[in-house]
Amino acid sequence: MTSRTVLITGGNRGIGRAIAEEFVAQGHRVAVTARSGEGPEGALTVRADVTDSAALDAAFTEVETKLGPVEVVVANAGITRDMLLMRMSEDDFDAVVDTNLGGAFRVVKRASKGMLKARFGRIVLISSVVGLYGSAGQANYSASKAGLVGFARSITRELGARGITANVVAPGFIETEMTAALPEAQQAEYLKAIPAGRYASANEVARVVAWLAGDDAGYISGAVIPVDGGLGMGH
Ligand code: NDP
Repeated sequence: MTSRTVLITGGNRGIGRAIAEEFVAQGHRVAVTARSGEGPEGALTVRADVTDSAALDAAFTEVETKLGPVEVVVANAGITRDMLLMRMSEDDFDAVVDTNLGGAFRVVKRASKGMLKARFGRIVLISSVVGLYGSAGQANYSASKAGLVGFARSITRELGARGITANVVAPGFIETEMTAALPEAQQAEYLKAIPAGRYASANEVARVVAWLAGDDAGYISGAVIPVDGGLGMGH
């Protein structure tokens, strides 16, 4: 296994933190961005909001100085602002798209500079099963997550010949603060629809992300890898 410099956005909690822990455990040099709190032990924490290009640029520069050029980037930071379409404000739509899709754009654009120079890069975008499956009350969120697929595939066509891969991981129902906040009735409904009959742990997502960034996955690009217990099958 080649040791890499890895940057994960939103690594202070939830899935991002589990991803950072997995990369640390595998012996990589790991940095996380966080707006608050800290990443796991063994990872460098840098402050950045993914809606702020200047803050992201400064965070990347700090990571490059302390750990070396970023070779693996995981765009994980994301938010929900769920509401039925009729009542969804433009602000709620824009905030979710600007964080989930715009944030990935800013992070990947900044990371691509060093990757092009190195002629190597692994880009992993954390989407969601609802990106392609759809979800009532989440028009903003699912649109932002579907957008990541077109984004990854365009990057693949643009940068694929330069040793850079871009893939999407689409988790289903994962036990984190984000899902704990969903109404109980909605959680029970999801559980009924999941062929695996259970929710996943954040670690199960983290291990797939680490594998995609590893030496064995160099010929996989533009793919959407579901980690959803079969929930989104066929979408
Ligand atoms: P959490 O709510 O637990 O964590 C979200 C993370 O994103 C936090 O670290 C948060 O930082 C960060 N974040 C949010 N907005 C910004 C911003 N503007 N700038 C920088 N960081 C930001 O979510 P999860 O761990 O559950 O989700 C992680 C990713 O996985 C998200 O993209 C989510 O859409 C996706 N996902 C989650 C699923 C689930 O079941 N949980 C299912 C499918 C996909 P802070 O603490 O500072 O707010």
